[in-house]
Amino acid sequence: MKEFAIIKKFFSARQNFSNNTQVGIGDDAAVVSAPSNQKIVITTDTFSESIHFPSHTKAYDIGYKALAVNLSDLAAMGAKPMWVTLALAFPRYNEEWLKEFSQGFFDLANEHNIQLIGGDTTRGHLSITIQAMGLATSPLLRSEAKVEDLIFVSGTLGDAGVGLQLATNKIVLPDNFKEFFITKLNRPIPQINLGKSLEHISHCAIDISDGLIADVNHILEASNVGAEINLEKIPLSQPMQQCFSREEGIKFALTSGDDYQLCFTLSENIAKQHTELLTKFHCTLIGKITSERKLKLFFNDQPYQENLHGYEHFE
Ligand code: ADP
Ligand code: MG
Repeated sequence: MKEFAIIKKFFSARQNFSNNTQVGIGDDAAVVSAPSNQKIVITTDTFSESIHFPSHTKAYDIGYKALAVNLSDLAAMGAKPMWVTLALAFPRYNEEWLKEFSQGFFDLANEHNIQLIGGDTTRGHLSITIQAMGLATSPLLRSEAKVEDLIFVSGTLGDAGVGLQLATNKIVLPDNFKEFFITKLNRPIPQINLGKSLEHISHCAIDISDGLIADVNHILEASNVGAEINLEKIPLSQPMQQCFSREEGIKFALTSGDDYQLCFTLSENIAKQHTELLTKFHCTLIGKITSERKLKLFFNDQPYQENLHGYEHFE
């Protein structure tokens, strides 16, 4: 099948364009416009076989997750996702694979009304690069955490890390648990609505892609501050609590990536005014920002010492 026939069959003509999109797929480049009071927020992420997902990952999940991780970055900026481009390389034409892949991609894109406005299709090692663009009036930055701010995380942490261990056969769990954790790994839910709700009440957010420690450290470095985290407060899922000790669960949360929940800071006052919102999005208070430029971990008020690192590609 020819390149353009593939694009037509699986990617173009699957959406209705909004008024913000003047030219989508089909010309040399896309043309979009943004309202004058809003900023355009842009992110890109590559998703490669064997590095970002095990070879046996289902095509549907690959299409879904390649988009989800990009949307998670927009959520962490408080942006409303608008447009995406998709650069796709695959070794050989496989109709069934492309059908599943594009289904996973569009199921998530359409859920959030995101327009696929262009891309590239080439032969090569299986790899997907997506660029996502969104709109925000005041994007949430890593550099804006303030001393005394409270630190919150959404959802539960560590589940995707367990999922990865299962998917790569490093651990074994009963089937019902296995399904829960692998779904957490393959179908992260980008926290777009939470990000939008935080846009005007928080200054600072990050999505947790490399483990809580690594990502909190990004905030601390960018904001020139420190933090104290109370590890016993870290939210763990029911299955995590059933399958692992509290300590093991916390270790997954601190050091394994792929959860794609948000970590953000709020002043105490603002937090008090928005308890409903925090409950609605399952957010948990885990610590606070300090002036001493260090990350201090406590477990039930005792200092916690372990050498913990997040996921690093070139370590
Ligand atoms: P060019 O040679 O100008 O780069 P291409 O033949 O690569 O054009 O692409 C033709 C059109 O199809 C362009 O509008 C491009 O953005 C779009 N496109 C190519 N691959 C994809 C894809 N996987 N998903 C969405 N749009 C694509
Ligand atoms: Mg091209």
